Amino acid sequence: KNYCKPDMKIMFYDDSMYESRMMERRLENRMYHALGKGEFEVFVQPKVDTDLNNKIISAEALVRWRDPDEGYIQPSRFIPLFEHNGFLENLDLYTFDVICMHLARWNREIDPDLRISFNISRSYIFKEGFARRLNDIADIYAVNKSNIVVEIVESMLFEKPDQLINIIMEMKHYGFKIAMDDFGSGYSSLSMLKQIPFDILKIDQGFFRTEKNNEEKGRAIVDVIIQLANRLGVEVITEGIETKDQLDFVNRCGCHMVQGFYFYAPMKIEKFETLIALDDGFDKIEYSKHLYDN
Ligand code: C2E
Ligand code: MG
Ligand code: MG
Ligand code: MG
Repeated sequence: KNYCKPDMKIMFYDDSMYESRMMERRLENRMYHALGKGEFEVFVQPKVDTDLNNKIISAEALVRWRDPDEGYIQPSRFIPLFEHNGFLENLDLYTFDVICMHLARWNREIDPDLRISFNISRSYIFKEGFARRLNDIADIYAVNKSNIVVEIVESMLFEKPDQLINIIMEMKHYGFKIAMDDFGSGYSSLSMLKQIPFDILKIDQGFFRTEKNNEEKGRAIVDVIIQLANRLGVEVITEGIETKDQLDFVNRCGCHMVQGFYFYAPMKIEKFETLIALDDGFDKIEYSKHLYDN
């Protein structure tokens, strides 16, 4: 049979596979220790409103692992692994805690309307008592829950849709806002737009990452999703905006909330705090380039 062919074996056990297995083992052996040591850092990426002179209205919490030997490890290298082995729920709770602590203070001292969004793992959201746990943590910090956005990836819907709707309803009952992340990236179905009571739609950045000959198609889809969101009365955000040209395009389509490297990359909490505390007349984008970062 095909899978017994000797050359296939060579492919399965080649050096790079072996190395990546070893790397995973190394990360798994260190993860609990790393959490205790504070090696996971919560970064935030600002979202701006181009109708409000590019004011920072929100930010997304994105975790990074600062390994003492390796430096920063990006989420793509450990999120899938931690999702698989269950550790991600610890990390998500930690991130949520850090965010609630800072947001309560920022809302009190800097901007009462500032929001922070965060991502949750698909394995954790279905755990018994998940929503209540978030609610309890938010209550400890007395943070305004309508300023906390829970980002859910659309692919979660296809596992247990009824159960997920109940969890979303429970989170909304506590006052959290719900965003559909990476919308259009995989399994989206339009009927889900009327079934799921989410508040914000985040368009997948993949539509901007197409080859040249598909660029127009990607943009046509983005255009229609923005119109659809506006018609449905839900907020719409485009992420992954890297160029002025992309920005002008989504603005013309009717989307004014934007997240992407064109404005800001994910940054340390301290830098973010410095930025939001600056006067709104200030050119924060230019200024942010001079602030210390990773
Ligand atoms: P996501 O939730 O869709 O987050 C957006 C990703 O796009 C981030 O990657 C961000 O750095 C990147 N990005 C933002 N603007 C641009 C841009 O203009 N151009 C390009 N090329 N990329 C941009 P990051 O931080 O590497 O995170 C990747 C994914 O890992 C996230 O996708 C999210 O699904 C997951 N993730 C990150 N932090 C956490 C976490 O604390 N918990 C969980 N459960 N998942 C997380
Ligand atoms: Mg996200
Ligand atoms: Mg996303
Ligand atoms: Mg993504």
